[in-house]
Amino acid sequence: MSTVRSFWNPRSGASPYWNPYLETMPRERLDAIHLKRIKSLLRYAYDNSPFYRQKFQEAGITPDDIRTLEDFKTRVPVTDKSDFIHLQEENPHYGQTGAMPEEYIAHHCETSGTTGIPLRIPYTMYDTERYGEGWVYGWWAVGIRPHDTFYFAFNWGLFAGFWSAYWGVRRLGGKVYSGGGQTTEGHIRAIQRLRPTVLLSTPTYALYMAEVAREMGIDPAGLSIKYTYHAGEPGPCALPAVRKQLDESWGAFSSECYGVAELHSLTFGCPTREGVHLDETNTFSWSRDPESGKEIPEGQIGENIVTTYVNNAQPLINYRTHDLVERHYNCVCGRTWAFLRGVVLGRSDFMVTIRGTNVYQSAVEKILGSIPGVSTHYQMILTREKGLDRMLVQVEPVKEYPVEKQVQLGEQVGKAIHQALKVRLEVETVPVGSLPRYELKTKRIVDQRPKEVRRALDR
Ligand SMILES: [Zn+2]
Repeated sequence: MSTVRSFWNPRSGASPYWNPYLETMPRERLDAIHLKRIKSLLRYAYDNSPFYRQKFQEAGITPDDIRTLEDFKTRVPVTDKSDFIHLQEENPHYGQTGAMPEEYIAHHCETSGTTGIPLRIPYTMYDTERYGEGWVYGWWAVGIRPHDTFYFAFNWGLFAGFWSAYWGVRRLGGKVYSGGGQTTEGHIRAIQRLRPTVLLSTPTYALYMAEVAREMGIDPAGLSIKYTYHAGEPGPCALPAVRKQLDESWGAFSSECYGVAELHSLTFGCPTREGVHLDETNTFSWSRDPESGKEIPEGQIGENIVTTYVNNAQPLINYRTHDLVERHYNCVCGRTWAFLRGVVLGRSDFMVTIRGTNVYQSAVEKILGSIPGVSTHYQMILTREKGLDRMLVQVEPVKEYPVEKQVQLGEQVGKAIHQALKVRLEVETVPVGSLPRYELKTKRIVDQRPKEVRRALDR
């Protein structure tokens, strides 16, 4: 019969965890579950996806050869976005990378593809349910409950983006307000009228919305928003300055999900907002040295390699995210699920070498986020001269910044970059409002180098 434990209803709202049993499960038990799921995933992919069958054959393995997580990390080859794009190009729909007959596909999305060809992402109905639940862990962790109402400042295009958050709201039992594609003023008016409690958007767009609201004579902090939740760009768990601006602008609590469109929502903000937790019910991930391929131990920086249990339509196994992360297994919030401190610390493929120093986009972003007076609008322009890469950083000051001090602000940024990264970059202060504002995936890097030297920036 029932035990004392069953008196406590984990869904009562008293628990800080959406799924206390799994979120606090000891590592060894979690790993045992992972191994079991990985084994069945390998078998499934081998039997149903021509791409994986060939990949395993080339590596000289069958699913039965993988008996431990160690085997999995060392013997199962990594996969990359380019493998999928290449095969999809040659075939209609998903080609050899798909593992399900077409009629089982319930939803089709694509990566945003800032450069090159977008990756096609098929989902079965089950995939969307699981993908959506990834968000719920994070919402629950910060106090969002089924009575909350969600405003989507998202245009519902082919880009996966907040579609998965929509599936998540359905899983939670919250209410959806689909803001859709309209003017920023329109979004503000809708929020004023509908009084949602949660705002979902990219961090940049939430800040821009607040700016526009103020121009309309409306104090965004006085509206109904209690939480802002973000994805698509480094947000409140990665950049303290952005967190502060978001919290203050909206008079709300901000958090974020670091997801990868083709994988799934992947992680959710720890309530400490020092980083994110991996959703270990849907994901297995480990860190790898991008050069040698060797595993990187806890506490050190390596590339995040992800296997998802969510994508039955197109399995992604040992998939390279090209995101550099610092992984830990203990967190003050009590979760045993992997903790990525500072979220994504850089891109293993998006890195430029300036005068012999490797410069990561997010390293520069981190510095900009720490300097008072610098707004969230900035851009990095890459050029190539005499065989060498050059980077010009353009920053917009915050609106109230005194005009006569703007040149000094640029110098201050230059000094901070030099101090932290040991490289001198050209920095230019540009007038307030002159850089482009985007609703999705702000394109921070303008790569003006010849095509052949550009690295894959696409994601
Ligand atoms: Zn935590």
